[in-house]
Amino acid sequence: MKQKMVLYFPSTTTEQPFTYYLIKDYNLMINILKANINPRKEGRAVVEISGDKKDYLAGLEYLQSRGVKIFPLEQEIVWQEDRCTHCGACVVICPAGALVLERPEMEVKFLGEKCIVCEHCIKACPSRAMEARY
Ligand code: SF4
Ligand code: SF4
Repeated sequence: MKQKMVLYFPSTTTEQPFTYYLIKDYNLMINILKANINPRKEGRAVVEISGDKKDYLAGLEYLQSRGVKIFPLEQEIVWQEDRCTHCGACVVICPAGALVLERPEMEVKFLGEKCIVCEHCIKACPSRAMEARY
């Protein structure tokens, strides 16, 4: 199996050597495509994981058991600017810094490359400006 995915690491997990264990204990190959991980802060990584199906599934189960959230990369979040009222409700709940309030204009911008597809903003947006697409 070979799959690209987004891994979201809560702040309590960022110092754990997950890659090492996935390789050593689960015989998986990890290709890190993009990562933003800092000690004791929330982090995320876009990775491609490959290996035998049994090892692959066991590896994902291991990650989830340690609090790592896994999102499929096929899904993306789309910001519909014309619907956005720049209320800022999404900015405060976005765990990845993908929605920012630019000053002095006080306009919200969506930084898609930082998005971990957690969908928090979809629930928070009163204008339905955030959408998940597959
Ligand atoms: S889905 Fe929304 S809240 Fe979650 S990271 Fe992406 S922009 Fe931020
Ligand atoms: S919550 Fe919706 S309307 Fe408000 S700033 Fe975010 S995207 Fe725009």
